[in-house]
Amino acid sequence: MSAAAGGGPARERRRVCLLGATGSIGDSALDVVARHPDRFEVVALAAHSNVDKLADQCARFRPRHVALLDVAAAARLRERLRALDVPAAVHEGPDGLAAVAALPEADTVLAAIVGAAGLGPTLAAARAGKRILLANKEALVIGGAMFMDAVRAGGATLLPIDSEHNAIFQCLPAGYDRRPDRAGVRRILLTASGGPFRRRPLAELATVTPDEACAHPNWSMGRKISVDSATMMNKGLEVIEAHWLFGAPREAIEVVLHPQSVVHSLVEYVDGSVLAQLGHPDMRTPIAQALAYPERVAAGVPQLDLAALAALSFEPPDMARFPCLGLAFDALAAGGSAPAILNAANEVAVEAFLAGRARFTDIAAACAAALERVSAAPVSTLEGALEADALGRAAARAALRLPREQGARAVRPDPTKAD
Ligand code: NAD
Ligand code: MG
Repeated sequence: MSAAAGGGPARERRRVCLLGATGSIGDSALDVVARHPDRFEVVALAAHSNVDKLADQCARFRPRHVALLDVAAAARLRERLRALDVPAAVHEGPDGLAAVAALPEADTVLAAIVGAAGLGPTLAAARAGKRILLANKEALVIGGAMFMDAVRAGGATLLPIDSEHNAIFQCLPAGYDRRPDRAGVRRILLTASGGPFRRRPLAELATVTPDEACAHPNWSMGRKISVDSATMMNKGLEVIEAHWLFGAPREAIEVVLHPQSVVHSLVEYVDGSVLAQLGHPDMRTPIAQALAYPERVAAGVPQLDLAALAALSFEPPDMARFPCLGLAFDALAAGGSAPAILNAANEVAVEAFLAGRARFTDIAAACAAALERVSAAPVSTLEGALEADALGRAAARAALRLPREQGARAVRPDPTKAD
C-alpha cells in the first residue's frame, strides 16, 4: 500500500483488525479502507469459516494475521495462503479470534461478528485497550456493565458504528458523559424503519417467509439482523445498546418509526433543541466516521438530495405488531442477565425461522417464554454472560420444541449460514 500522496511525510496509519470480515459490515469496512490506503492498513482479518472469501480478501489486503473460528477451515486457508504467497499467520478457534482481537500490531478493532459469538473477541479487544469500532451490538446487550467496565479498565475507546448509535454519538458533545449535567441531554430518540412488515396485515405474519423477512426496504444487511429488523428486535437490542453506550436510563430512550431511514437518530436537549444526523442508509458512512474520527474521510456514499426526498415521516411504533420491542424494554428494566437471555433466545429462534423450522411469530413467543422461564441474575464475568446465554438458548429450544442439538453454544453457530 502506498504512502501519503504528494510526497510529504506519511501520517501514521491506523492499523485495523476486522472481526467478521466476510459479512455485510466486513464488506463495507473494506470498501472504505481500500479508498484510503494512506490512512488505514489491514493487519488482521477474522471470520467464521468462509475460506474462499477470506482468501480473496487476504490476496487484496495482505494482512499479517488471519483467524477462523472453524479449525478445518483454518487448515484449508493455510493451504490457500501458501499458494497465494500471503505470509499471514492463521489463528483458529475462539482463542485464535481473541488473540487477533488483542494483537499488539493493531490499534483499531472493528467488531462485526454477528451475535453472542462476538462477545469474547470484543472483550479481548477492550482488555487490550484498543480503539473499538462496535457493530456487534449483541456484545453490549449480553455483556452490559461488565463489558463497559472492561473498556474503562483496559483504557479502550468505544466508537459505535451501528448507524443509530453513530448518529447519536455525532449529535452529542465530546466528553458529555463526564459532565455531571450530561450536557443537558433530555432524551435519545432512536429511529427505526419498521422493516418489511410495517403495513402487513397482522394475521399474515405467521406465514411470512425468510426471504420476505430479509427483504429490508432500505438497508442491505446480513440475514440475522434483517430478521431482527422485521421483528424490531433489532431496535430493542439497540435500546439496550444505547443504554450502555450513553449511560441513558430506560425512560430517556424513545423509539420512533421513520420509514425512509434517512434520519439515523436524534438527541433532544433540555432547551428544546433536537439534533439529528441524516444520510443515505449506507453503513459506509458510520464506518468511515468512526475509522477516521475525529477527522472525516470520503466513504463513497452519494450526496443526500433533500429536495428529491421531499418528505420525511415519523410515527410511534405499534407495540402489538412488534412485541419483541416491548420484550427488550422489559429485559432492560429487569437488568442483570435478562438481556443476555433475551438475545440468546432470539438467536435460536431466528436461526430456526431462517432454517424453516419456526414461524416468524414464533420468534417473539420463544423470546417471551425464555424471559419468563429463566430468572435474571447479576452478570460480572464472561463465563456468567455465556451461562445466561446457554440458559436462554435452552429455554428457546424448549419453547420451539427443537431437538437439543439445534441451539449451539455461543461460539459455534453462524446463524446466518453466510459462511
Ligand atoms: P453477516 O452475517 O453479514 O456477517 C457476520 C460475520 O460474522 C461474518 O464474517 C461471519 O463469518 C462472522 N461470524 C459469524 N459467526 C461467527 C462466529 N461464531 N465466530 C466468528 N465469526 C463469526 O452480519 P452483518 O450484517 O455484517 O452484521 C454483523 C454485526 O454488525 C451484527 O452484530 C449486526 O447486528 C451488526 N450490524 C450490522 C449492520 C448491517 O448493516 N449489516 C448494521 C448495524 C449493526
Ligand atoms: Mg442499527
